[in-house]
Amino acid sequence: SVPVVTVDGPGGSGKGTVTQMLARRLGWHLLDSGALYRLTALAARRQGVDLADEAGLVGVAAGLDVSFQPTPEGEPVRVFLHGDDVTREIRTEETGDGASRVAVIQAVRDALLQRQRDFRQAPGLVADGRDMGTVVFPDAPVKVFLTASAEERARRRYLQLKEAGMDVNIQNLLDEIRARDDRDMNRSAAPLKPADDAQVIDSTGLSIEEVLSKVMALVGQ
Ligand code: C5P
Repeated sequence: SVPVVTVDGPGGSGKGTVTQMLARRLGWHLLDSGALYRLTALAARRQGVDLADEAGLVGVAAGLDVSFQPTPEGEPVRVFLHGDDVTREIRTEETGDGASRVAVIQAVRDALLQRQRDFRQAPGLVADGRDMGTVVFPDAPVKVFLTASAEERARRRYLQLKEAGMDVNIQNLLDEIRARDDRDMNRSAAPLKPADDAQVIDSTGLSIEEVLSKVMALVGQ
């Protein structure tokens, strides 16, 4: 069957950058599953569906018209929702917060499951998320769980936002990261945890290249 590398872990662990580079180097497809939860939250807001309306959210998730467009190295993959370029909009804190709220609903997760599995196409797939190794691709031959301390993740996010010209408070970022971790780890629907057969990599103090070469070694490249 088509090979899959799953990369799970908390936000800010470097998963996004590592999986984009890995997919490019291997020439494999990429699934950014977090984007699907972000798109569900964004589409709900646009369609006037309340985040407390579970049945409404399931309808939104099932009806998402999404496309991902590859970009040159170093640029984020472009994301389209119903033909609209929402690449930047899905990355805001507000959408991230909404995503982590819709993600606690099991029926929303179920509505997105087959869509995620459909990304598994030759010659291979790199899957980025929280439950790629535990729920979506339990038979993946290579599973990575990427972590970093909350302080390190807040620092990385701070630098990213500063570079984007935004004025942010690092303590607020740290509080948000801790709240998001807490919600992701303590929910009953697919809580964030390493698969039993995952290799745990702590990226605190490692460069992207160092993390990438560890993962490439696991893939056998
Ligand atoms: O990775 P990203 O920050 O884009 O994910 C946004 C939110 O979506 C996460 O905080 C998490 O709650 C949820 N998520 C999830 N399962 C995934 C990917 C993301 O529950 N596989």
